[in-house]
Amino acid sequence: MKRIAENTINRLIVYKKELERLRKDDVRNVFSHKLAFLSGFPSHLVRRDLMNVGYNGSPAHGYDVVELEKCIADFLCTPGSVRVILIGVGNLGRAILDYCQQQNHKISMVAAFDSDKNKVNKVYHGIYTFHIDSIKNFIKENDIKVAIITVPASDAQEIASALVESGVRGIVNFTPARLQLNEEVYIENLDMMLGLEKVVYFVDGG
Ligand code: ATP
Repeated sequence: MKRIAENTINRLIVYKKELERLRKDDVRNVFSHKLAFLSGFPSHLVRRDLMNVGYNGSPAHGYDVVELEKCIADFLCTPGSVRVILIGVGNLGRAILDYCQQQNHKISMVAAFDSDKNKVNKVYHGIYTFHIDSIKNFIKENDIKVAIITVPASDAQEIASALVESGVRGIVNFTPARLQLNEEVYIENLDMMLGLEKVVYFVDGG
């Protein structure tokens, strides 16, 4: 499959969300300019992105909402659901577990891990929490490739290295730590304070 730019993937995820909303409202067709308006991207980019995923609908007659949503979903996700684990069941970790439970896509949160004995062997938002000591075996036995890290920054590197050593290939890092991992591991850094500082700069001083 041809390698698609990260920004394109980000846009496709937004289109899929908007198409899901339209489908739920029983809308059957959508024109590219409407999808562009809803998702906040220019129409020409929307048309190009949809060509990239191999959608053959006619922009002149509007895209079929159900078909297009399925086409993007098939493009973004491998068949079946992708199993994800979360490490660090603190306030943020629990909020993410809750959020993931409310979503309806092909990503399934299968387990959480923590080092605090008061948090392990408990279920948070439908997800069982195991002790961190069992994580390597769990990853290998369940062929886990994606993990979310919500431990304190000071522990993030050690956790991330253990994850990668066991077979994880993609990490969503919610800590401010800059992870040093081999180049084949895909890391998405989502430090909220960094985003907030950026917005504050542009609102206040930029
Ligand atoms: P709480 O008040 O519930 O402890 P918190 O958000 O203040 O939540 P943090 O100190 O940010 O907690 O830690 C996040 C979570 O990561 C906690 O549940 C903590 O027990 C867990 N944690 C810390 N170090 C590790 C580690 N090395 N391995 C696994 N989990 C860890």
